[in-house]
Amino acid sequence: MNKFEQLGLNESLLKAILDLGFENPSEVQEKAIPLLLEKDTDMVALAQTGTGKTAAFGFPLIQKIDADNRNTQALVLSPTRELCLQITNELKNYSKYEKGINVVAVYGGASITEQARDIKRGAQIIVATPGRMQDMINRGLVNIKNIDYCILDEADEMLNMGFYEDIVSILSDTPDEKSTWLFSATMPQEVARIAKQFMTDPLEITVGTKNSGSSTVSHEFYLVNARDRYEALKRLADANPDIFSVVFCRTKRDTQAIAEKLIEDGYSAAALHGDLSQAQRDGVMKSFRGRQIQMLVATDVAARGIDVDNVTHVVNYQLPDEIETYNHRSGRTGRAGKLGTSIVIVTKSELRKISSIERIIKQKFEEKTIPSGIEICEIQLLHLANKIKDTEVDHEIDNYLPAINNVLEDLSKEELIKKMVSVEFNRFIAYYKKNRDISAQSSGERRERGDSEGREFNNNGAVRYFVNIGSRDNFDWMSLKDYLKETLDLGRDDVFKVDVKEGFSFFNTDPQHTDKVMDVLNNVQLEGRRINVEISKNDGGGRRDHNNRGGGRSSGGQRREGNFAPRREGSGGGFRSDRNSGSRDGGSREGGFRGDRNSSGPKREGGFRSSAPRSEGGSDRAPRRSENFGDSSRPRRPRRD
Ligand code: ADP
Ligand code: MG
Repeated sequence: MNKFEQLGLNESLLKAILDLGFENPSEVQEKAIPLLLEKDTDMVALAQTGTGKTAAFGFPLIQKIDADNRNTQALVLSPTRELCLQITNELKNYSKYEKGINVVAVYGGASITEQARDIKRGAQIIVATPGRMQDMINRGLVNIKNIDYCILDEADEMLNMGFYEDIVSILSDTPDEKSTWLFSATMPQEVARIAKQFMTDPLEITVGTKNSGSSTVSHEFYLVNARDRYEALKRLADANPDIFSVVFCRTKRDTQAIAEKLIEDGYSAAALHGDLSQAQRDGVMKSFRGRQIQMLVATDVAARGIDVDNVTHVVNYQLPDEIETYNHRSGRTGRAGKLGTSIVIVTKSELRKISSIERIIKQKFEEKTIPSGIEICEIQLLHLANKIKDTEVDHEIDNYLPAINNVLEDLSKEELIKKMVSVEFNRFIAYYKKNRDISAQSSGERRERGDSEGREFNNNGAVRYFVNIGSRDNFDWMSLKDYLKETLDLGRDDVFKVDVKEGFSFFNTDPQHTDKVMDVLNNVQLEGRRINVEISKNDGGGRRDHNNRGGGRSSGGQRREGNFAPRREGSGGGFRSDRNSGSRDGGSREGGFRGDRNSSGPKREGGFRSSAPRSEGGSDRAPRRSENFGDSSRPRRPRRD
């Protein structure tokens, strides 16, 4: 007899479980299922994320529902639309051999009338987010007055998100004699209050220690200077070629900015946050599940409860404001018994938060150093060698082999291997040999460059230019980069950090190209207009002063980027919001950020095509990850204003 059978589950469920590939019940399932099957009771079940709570209530629920009765018998409340869809999907899987059970998802952002219609057709189980449920009740579109079961899933997260009042109001619309099952990872006071208020003698199940982190997750931190956060993220990704991760930022803005930077640098990344449309969010999640996205950059709210298997790393790009949130973040990895790593990129001033988190998760962090360029190259090289070894050969290729052999016949095996590996590897070498060690030093060598997150990049002696063309001339960063490379006859990695604003742009080259840039570009016309290029400032030169907003020139006589804004005729006051655009090179970024979102906004079509062919895949001097990530699979970058 299999273990699920011992719990008292019926044939059709056992068959569905077989399809799901679950071999043994998890602890919370083992404890909850028999109790819930045996009698109608209230229950509070506490178990970490990733321990299989959905099935713990889902299996008994499906078994208890009367499939012949079309009335709504159960309501499952869950915190987010994403989770709501996930649970609905799971319940449908569980009940696939049980004829006549209908599960309907009810959540905001989709047509309420369609949802109401689905319910009317007979939904024994409704899975809903509290907000939309309340809305439906108010409009009389749903009747939950006779339900037998109410499940509060991820109760702590629902309350975290401020759904207390909705929940109370929804519950008061349900009959007293129903059973209420509350599932939660933690038991904060508000959850206890709900339990006390709305449940009668609930059975209690606790799996593991309350509030403790999942032990399949190991925790690491990397100490860096604030300005190196982004570089650290990239290196961590490069050092883990198979990374499949959720990267957490604190704000929507940072989330968007970091995702854009990663995409720009050739990583398969996307942003997930509340400013995206539902369709965009769905698209992103679909790509993530399908693993077209390796790095999902998300806000806490957007990533709540996301259950994607096999996430290898959670990266805390920034620590959350509330350290309790750390637990929710790290719970996105190490799911279903798999191992996962939760990484924190931390600056000195945040170090004490690490010890506070250690107390909460009752686990120690391991302090690690950001891998050096050499180490990353080694890792990538080995990864490539393994990839070659494991690649399955499609015998279609046999037809081409004679010709290929012809070309390569004079090479020895050794030479051939060297060359093959170099095809991929040279890019990494070229990138990393220029780059320095970025682990934070304890000495005072740090230059203060403001603590802005992710927008600051070390130029490593590169020269930054200002040029008077921008998105108004139908450039985005990719097309401008292509245009510059072409006009200046430079190589693929020679123009970098291209930052396109409305009426002007910035870009970098190494110093040896400066003469060429100045000579050639200043003598080029673009649709009848003279291009004007100037050296903006060198890295580290002319330190920015947060308070000095209006000044004309910085002390070194070098132009400050922000002050270029007024140059553009007709730009008016609205243009000032761009003044912070220079903050990439160090400076404050409070305010002023929104106005320049166009820099990587949707691509424009326009008359410029002939002179500036648009590049397809992204390209930058950073090594590209894996294959070309073509436009079709590239998540759309939404406009933010
Ligand atoms: P929780 O709600 O506790 O965070 P989920 O119910 O979302 O956890 O389950 C986490 C993952 O574990 C899901 O991918 C689920 O399919 C898987 N899972 C659940 N129960 C089992 C089981 N008994 N055996 C194997 N995998 C399971
Ligand atoms: Mg869950």
